[in-house]
Amino acid sequence: MAKDSEGEYARYVETEQDRWVPTKRLARRKRDFYMRRARGRGRHAPEEWTALREYFGGRCVRCLLVPTGERAVGSRTVIWILEKDHIVRVTDGGSDDIGNLQPLCTKCNGGKGNDRTDWRVSAAETLGLEWPRP
Ligand SMILES: [Zn+2]
Repeated sequence: MAKDSEGEYARYVETEQDRWVPTKRLARRKRDFYMRRARGRGRHAPEEWTALREYFGGRCVRCLLVPTGERAVGSRTVIWILEKDHIVRVTDGGSDDIGNLQPLCTKCNGGKGNDRTDWRVSAAETLGLEWPRP
């Protein structure tokens, strides 16, 4: 366990890019703050997100795989699910509108960094789908 600047603990997350993330209260407070601002710029309905995921067949739009819940990395098993990725990060002024969202798997999202690639475009092209979605 490690202490962050506000005296709270960070959690070690086992992914391919092993990293420390702040736990509980601090993380929730930061997320709530940025999400409130993001929703002020635009918001989406839960059905829109479901429809977007289903449009791509439950695939990650970057690696085009369908996450199965977990996967093996060496001798370990790590979580592998589809996550809601904000193409422009909410901490960089991105909105919570469906137009700024793409489904990325835990693996692809973990290595995202400051990348703003809209993977929906190439995914649609590879999968023979129309984009923007009709
Ligand atoms: Zn992926």
